[in-house]
Amino acid sequence: MTDIIQLLPDHVANQIAAGEVVQRPASVVKELLENAIDAGATSIKLLIKDAGKSLIQVIDNGKGMSETDARFCFERHATSKIRTAEDLFNLQTKGFRGEALASIAAIAHVELKTKQALQELGTHIKIEGSSIVSQDLITTPKGTSIAVKNLFYNIPARRNFLKSNQVETRHIIDEFQRVALVHSTIEFSMYHNDNEVYRLNSCNLRQRIVSILGKKTNEKLVPINEKTDVLTLSGFVSKPEFSKKKRGEQFFFVNDRFIKNSYLHHALVSAFDGLLAGGYHPSYFLYLTVPPSTIDINIHPTKTEIKFDNEKILYAIIRSTVKHSLGQYNITPALDFNR
Ligand code: ADP
Ligand code: MG
Repeated sequence: MTDIIQLLPDHVANQIAAGEVVQRPASVVKELLENAIDAGATSIKLLIKDAGKSLIQVIDNGKGMSETDARFCFERHATSKIRTAEDLFNLQTKGFRGEALASIAAIAHVELKTKQALQELGTHIKIEGSSIVSQDLITTPKGTSIAVKNLFYNIPARRNFLKSNQVETRHIIDEFQRVALVHSTIEFSMYHNDNEVYRLNSCNLRQRIVSILGKKTNEKLVPINEKTDVLTLSGFVSKPEFSKKKRGEQFFFVNDRFIKNSYLHHALVSAFDGLLAGGYHPSYFLYLTVPPSTIDINIHPTKTEIKFDNEKILYAIIRSTVKHSLGQYNITPALDFNR
């Protein structure tokens, strides 16, 4: 008899996990921005170079990490966000798997600077291929900066698979917008090769949508507001006359996460029945809030898909609420509920 099964070393397991979580530079952007939000940051800066292929850096003014946590955060399944399996059904944070930093550190060169409010000096760690290569004390503001360099340096197939800088930048901007559209009170900025792409001040939702998508958007928005026992629905849809031949700007958020869901997308679009010419698409920015116990976010590696307990009820309420709001707008076009 010969035994041939072995446990994989951590750095190999991390690299395998990274294959799921980190598909491209934009995936890193999403994970780092979400960590900054979970850390309670009120100001978040994103720096990228060469479409994220050589640098992705997120600097936040959140709560920072202790020296021990700064080392520990790169371990797989190391998280401060959940403690028990029950917590999975009452998620209050974007993260919960403790996988992102471990995955990123397995396939890039990572430099972390972090400091908590009461610490005098912060912690500075460099990590390559899942191993810490240097650690020292550093003078740094309260908060965390994580710089990810040379993504996929040790996975040539992945690196070669990356698309043009233009396409990868587009993906990064999409992720940036999806996060910034949820957290309008947080200040965000983004720089690409040292050029400012966005500088977004703390504001309300309508102002955030306008500052991301342009001034003209303001006059196109019909507000949506509904609250029932099972959900809260808010946000805006585009006035029918502003629908687009191309697919419009369509953003659907559930409990503050950008979610893709064709069934509920259909609910929304069908509310426009009879109002749109054939081949035209509405834009929308819809924020659905449901009790965390009625959804399962843990069904997809990038958490962009979600399982609902009561999809049919949600469908009906979304459709009728949007229909009603559009009707109201048609009767009194001047009506405007500023959020
Ligand atoms: P998760 O977000 O699922 O917990 P991550 O691998 O993304 O897993 O992060 C691991 C841990 O590192 C987090 O739970 C958090 O405690 C800490 N952490 C990561 N990023 C930051 C940050 N920007 N500020 C403070 N703590 C952070
Ligand atoms: Mg995370």
